[in-house]
Amino acid sequence: SPEASAVKVKLYATGSDSESGAAVLGTYNLKKNSSTGMWSVTVNGDLKNIYYTYLVTVNGTTNETQDVYSKATGVNGNRSMVVDLDSTDPDGWDSDNHVLFNNAQEAVVWEVHVRDFSISDTSGVSDDNKGKYLAFTEGGTKINSDTSASSVSTAADYLVKSGINCVQLMPVYDFGSVDETITGSATNRNWGYDPVNYNVPEGSYSSNPYDGNVRITEFKQMIQALHDRGISVVMDVVYNHTYSTDSCFQKTVPNYYYRLNRAGKFSNGSGCGNECATERAMYRNYVIQSCLYWVNEYHVDGFRYDLMGIMDVETMNQIRDALDQVDNRVTMWGEAWTGGDSYHPTNTCDGTKFIPAIQSNAGSLSERIGIFNDSVRDAIKGGAMSIANTGFVQGSKGAAKGISFGLFANSNGNYKWKAKAPSQSVTYADCHDNAALYDQLVASTVSGDYGNRYEDLVKMNKMAGAIVNTSQGISFMLAGQEMARTKYGDTNSYKSSPEINKINWNNILEYQDLVSYYKGLYEIRKNFTPFTAMDKSYSSAYTLNKSMGSAFSNQVAFTVKNDQPDEWQTMAVIHNSAKKAEEVKLKDESCTEWVIIANDKTAGLKKLGEVSGSTFTVPAISTVIAVDKASFDKLA
Ligand code: CA
Repeated sequence: SPEASAVKVKLYATGSDSESGAAVLGTYNLKKNSSTGMWSVTVNGDLKNIYYTYLVTVNGTTNETQDVYSKATGVNGNRSMVVDLDSTDPDGWDSDNHVLFNNAQEAVVWEVHVRDFSISDTSGVSDDNKGKYLAFTEGGTKINSDTSASSVSTAADYLVKSGINCVQLMPVYDFGSVDETITGSATNRNWGYDPVNYNVPEGSYSSNPYDGNVRITEFKQMIQALHDRGISVVMDVVYNHTYSTDSCFQKTVPNYYYRLNRAGKFSNGSGCGNECATERAMYRNYVIQSCLYWVNEYHVDGFRYDLMGIMDVETMNQIRDALDQVDNRVTMWGEAWTGGDSYHPTNTCDGTKFIPAIQSNAGSLSERIGIFNDSVRDAIKGGAMSIANTGFVQGSKGAAKGISFGLFANSNGNYKWKAKAPSQSVTYADCHDNAALYDQLVASTVSGDYGNRYEDLVKMNKMAGAIVNTSQGISFMLAGQEMARTKYGDTNSYKSSPEINKINWNNILEYQDLVSYYKGLYEIRKNFTPFTAMDKSYSSAYTLNKSMGSAFSNQVAFTVKNDQPDEWQTMAVIHNSAKKAEEVKLKDESCTEWVIIANDKTAGLKKLGEVSGSTFTVPAISTVIAVDKASFDKLA
């Protein structure tokens, strides 16, 4: 804090005054090093688990604040804690390893909120762990805790059995919108896109938010349990804004960490009241160090950057470089847009031009920083801004164009935006924002009755999954897309009730064929390299039935050649969103003997039938996937 005139550190026995044993243990003056500008003091003694704040006097006022660089805090994050990180490690932590993919596109990403994952009684998770980090550590969980032999696995076991290999956790850093002192309240919940302490786990998901050690240990146990099951863990990070400007950043160095507009007011590119200045040296450095910390201390395997368009390209690329020093397989992707008008400075701290990390600047971003492909999302199920919009799977012919570009992860030609390579695109149909896929299908076709299964909606859902998983790019979905999860039409459920947000694990019985269809799609994807190649090496191996720029149709069909000797050599994918079966003749007729591996009912590695010639009969609202018979027989 170079502008501060005085800084003191205040030591406390507890993380808040409301706890027993609360006491002030002392206050010490820090001294400023005139050459580095750094304030410091040495306090002798065993200070492990002691809580502390800083008293920063700047511009004539003294603010009490937690440490910007907190690694542990007390309840609600108001006081920092001196932590011995090694002592927080759970048993076996030394042998816990990252779960990383050689190609980011090998990930099947399942985006979930910690509370939604287990809060329902159907989860089979013990009552103590429902809604907590530790829910992810439970094995042997069954629907409704029914232990009979025929019952179905839930929670972490379900992920393994259904072929999901990557969990993206919605905010798990310490956020401000949930009061950690209140337990058992249905209204005290939030997605958590409101950071308070970036390097501390959220307390409300721990079994004891008062003891700064507990949340750290339990967070590590969660990661360890997922890694033990071969599941990669991506963390949602929100460096673009903070809960409020009454923050440790503002109290420590006023008006440094936030962008101010020309009128001297906090700029609001996040739509949440402020935006952080990644172009400034000490915030850029902060963000880079924070990402490294989560990777090294918590073994996090990747990051999802909220409103990445507020951040600058140079900062994002420097994060990529820093993570590459640890392991270049650590994944990065983000939302290459803002939540409102962002006030951009002309230059960054190193004198270079400020370039926002938005879609139109993809060419300046590393090709290993993924960008959410909202154009394919909207093409699949209809524009996300209205739940009544229809896309390709509901029969919108105009959406075929977006599907065609999405096949190449928007890396082959410019449709709304252009990725440098397939690795730079996240292919998806839904996420936590806007309507869940199932809800948009309901609202746009059968007027708002969310209560029951509809055959056509299941077919549309299957086709959405087939489009995502036979496209290049990183396959991503909201948790439960594969079991027709509903939020009852709620398109912004950030603080809605558990009844709306919970994963209802009964759906895996109700929609058993859907879950197994998705599993089959992941297997097909995993066994066909062109879908997961990082670069554009396979783009010339595709033959589309219609030219991408002029497609207006209920059918999108393509063949793709593979040069991997131990895989299928040719694959045909035909999506038919018409309400009746259609004959589709492939443009590429070089293969004339086919084995069908996906149809309107099932998908996977098994033979479902054979076709001679290059004309396929594709059932109503379905995808047919076929591979050349010669290589199928050879590999079978
Ligand atoms: Ca919190």
